[in-house]
Amino acid sequence: MLDIKGKVVAITGASSGIGEATARLLAHHGAHVILGARRTERLEALTSEIRSKGGSADYQQLDVTKKDQMEAFIKYAEKAFGRVDVILNNAGVMPLSKLEALKVEEWDRMIDVNIRGVLHGIAAGLPIMKKQGFGQFVNIASIGAYSVTPTAAVYCATKYAVRAISEGLRLEVGGDIRVTLVSPGVTESELADSISDEEARQGMKEYRRISISPDAIARSILYAMEQPADVDVNEIIVRPTASP
Ligand code: NDP
Repeated sequence: MLDIKGKVVAITGASSGIGEATARLLAHHGAHVILGARRTERLEALTSEIRSKGGSADYQQLDVTKKDQMEAFIKYAEKAFGRVDVILNNAGVMPLSKLEALKVEEWDRMIDVNIRGVLHGIAAGLPIMKKQGFGQFVNIASIGAYSVTPTAAVYCATKYAVRAISEGLRLEVGGDIRVTLVSPGVTESELADSISDEEARQGMKEYRRISISPDAIARSILYAMEQPADVDVNEIIVRPTASP
C-alpha cells in the first residue's frame, strides 16, 4: 500500500454520511480534503474539526447540478494545491417511490444530482488530470447499480448510469487516470430522509435496520486510493453481512 499523505482529494456531498466519514478518514491519513456540498455550516464545522486534529481541510459551497459550480470547486482545489489527485463523486439523493406515484420532480432531481452531478465532476476534473498525466475518479454507485427493487426504479437507473459512465471512462482514459466505482449496500446516513412517499419511507425504515457504518465505505475508498499507480481497483461492493 502507498501512503496517501499529501494527496489532494475533492469530495462532493461531504456534509453528511459517506462523504463526511470519508473526509475524516482521508484527512486522518494525511490527504488534503476539499469538501463540497450545499450546507456550508456543516462543511465549516467538519473543516474545523479536521484542522483541530492536525489535518488539512477546506470547503466550498457546491451544488453538483450546476456545471459552473463544479468547475469552480475543482479549480479551487487545483489552485490551492497545484494539482488534483482524486475526485470523489459522492453526492446523491434517493427519494424513492413507485413509478405510478408519478413523482416526476423527484425523478428529475435524482437524474440531476446522481447522474449529471457525476458527469459534471468528470467534465471539471478530466482536463486537469489529462494535463497532469495522473488522477483518479472514485464514483459512488450502489448495490442498486446491479439489481432493481420496487420503488427504486429511477434511483437504480441513475446508479446503473453511474456504473456505465465509470466503465466507459475507464476504457477511454485508463492508463494514466484510474477509475473506481464503489457500490455501498445499506449504510447509516441521511439518504432516506429525502423519501416523501409514505409507503417507500416505511419500507426503507425496516430495510435500514441492518445498516453498516459509513466508515466501512470510507475504508474501501481509502483502499482504492492506496494502491500503486499501476493498480486500478475498478469496482468494490460493500454490503452489511446480514444483507439478503
Ligand atoms: P447522505 O444523505 O447522508 O449524503 C448525501 C450528500 O449529498 C450530502 O452531503 C448532501 O449535501 C449531498 N448532496 C445532495 N444533493 C446535492 C447537490 N445538489 N449538490 C451537492 N451535494 C449534494 O447520504 P449518503 O452518505 O448515504 O450518500 C452518499 C452516496 O452514497 C450517494 O450517492 C448515495 O446514493 C450512495 N449510497 C448510499 C447508500 C446508503 O445506504 N446510505 C447505499 C448505496 C449508495 P447537501 O444536502 O449539504 O448538499
